[in-house]
Amino acid sequence: MPLVDMRDMLNHAYHNNYAVGGFGLINLDFLEAIVTAAEHCRSPVILNLVESHFEHFDFGLIMPAVEHAARNATVPVAIHSDHGTSHASAVRAINLGCNSVMMDASLESFPVNITQTRHVADMAHACGAAVEGELGYVGGGEGENAAKYPGEGVYTAAEEAKAYVERTGVDCLAVSIGTVHGRQRGRTKLDFGRLKRINDMLGIPLVLHGGSGLTEEQYHKLILNGIAKINCYTELSDIAARTIRSNLQPDTGKGYIETMLGVRDSLREQIKLCMHLWGSAGRAAEILVQCRPWQPVEHVIIYNTEGVSTQQVEAMC
Ligand SMILES: [Zn+2]
Repeated sequence: MPLVDMRDMLNHAYHNNYAVGGFGLINLDFLEAIVTAAEHCRSPVILNLVESHFEHFDFGLIMPAVEHAARNATVPVAIHSDHGTSHASAVRAINLGCNSVMMDASLESFPVNITQTRHVADMAHACGAAVEGELGYVGGGEGENAAKYPGEGVYTAAEEAKAYVERTGVDCLAVSIGTVHGRQRGRTKLDFGRLKRINDMLGIPLVLHGGSGLTEEQYHKLILNGIAKINCYTELSDIAARTIRSNLQPDTGKGYIETMLGVRDSLREQIKLCMHLWGSAGRAAEILVQCRPWQPVEHVIIYNTEGVSTQQVEAMC
C-alpha cells in the first residue's frame, strides 16, 4: 500500500501548505537514508531517480530495490523518474516501476515542449502514472550536478504556463523563479511575485528544482505560493562527500566500509531536517487515508490479431 499515486500526495501537500521532498538517490545508502528518514518523521516522500545520473549506476539494477523499499515502507512513497528526455525513457521508467515521470523538454521551443510533453503525458496517464513538466529553464550553478544544466536560466512566464498546462495535461509543473541546479553562487534571489502569479493562474502543485540550501523563510514563502514538491540532491551529495573526506583524515589506509562509515546516517539526518523544514513531517497518516494505492502496470500481449479490427482487439483487453 505505501507506494501511492504521486498526484494524490502532491494535491494533499498543495492544499495543506507543505511540500514533499523529492530526494535524488544514486545508490543504496541514499535509498535507505531517505526511506528511514521518512519513517522516522512519519512523512510522505518521493524517491527521485534522475536520468542524467544513469551513467553512474544501472537504473534497471537499482529499481527492484527502490520498489521493494517503497512497498515495504509504512509511510506514503512515490517513485519518480526525473528529467527524462524522451518518450522512450518515460516508457522505460514506468516499465521499471516508476509511478511518476518528468518530461524535460524545457530547452526546446514552446510548441515543441508542448508536443513532446503531451506525448509522454498521454502514455503515462494511460498507465496511471503522474506527469511533471518544466517550463522556463532552471540552469546550473556550482557543484557536481550543475554542469548537467548549461547556460543561463530562463524564468517561467505565467501566461505561457497556463497554456502549457492546459495543452499538455501535466499534473505538476517545475517552475524557474531564481533557483539553480547545484550550488547557488551567493544568496539565492527568488521571484516570489512571479511564483504567485503562476500559482494564481494554474492552481496545481508546483515543483522547485534546485531546492538545496535556501533559508527557512524562503522555503516558507515558496510553499505558501504553491510549491508542493522540492527536489533535493546537491545538499545530500555534499554531505555524503564531507563525511567521506573526514573519514579519510588522517588517511590510515582505510578500506571501503570504514571509508563510507556514517554516510547513511549523515544523509538521514539532513533529510529529516528537510522534512521538518518543509512541513511534510507528521503528514503520512492523512495521506494514507486519502491516496489511491498504486496498481502495477499490467502488460497484455495478444497474438493472432491478423484480420481482426482495432475495435475487436481493444474489446479483448
Ligand atoms: Zn531538476
